[in-house]
Amino acid sequence: MGKRKKASKPQGPKKREKLPTSFQCLFCNHEGSVEVNIDRKAKVGDLSCKVCGQFYQTAINNLSAGVDVYADWIDACDAVAKEQEQATAARRPSGKPRAPPSASQAAHDDGLGDDFIVDDELDAEGEFADDDE
Ligand SMILES: [Zn+2]
Repeated sequence: MGKRKKASKPQGPKKREKLPTSFQCLFCNHEGSVEVNIDRKAKVGDLSCKVCGQFYQTAINNLSAGVDVYADWIDACDAVAKEQEQATAARRPSGKPRAPPSASQAAHDDGLGDDFIVDDELDAEGEFADDDE
């Protein structure tokens, strides 16, 4: 009987990169569209999404890897999202939109001019009386 061995070597379907440098985009949610670049000399890591064009840059240290830059990005986005949440929450109670600044300022300018002069005169009198006594 001849030995017949079936060649059953597992062949990887795709070439694997050494380090994971592509991630899912937080903005457009495309898997693997975010690519991280690390500049160890400048100690700067940046990433950009080739789909929606998001760009982020952060400081890194000697031990930082692509995933650290990505994690930093998530933190930064989280902080921005929370800020926006607070801003929207703060805006809600005030309700009414502000009046256009140019119109209200022009109206104020006229009234304030007259009021201010009257106020000044009264103030001066008061001071004089105080001094006399
Ligand atoms: Zn994107």
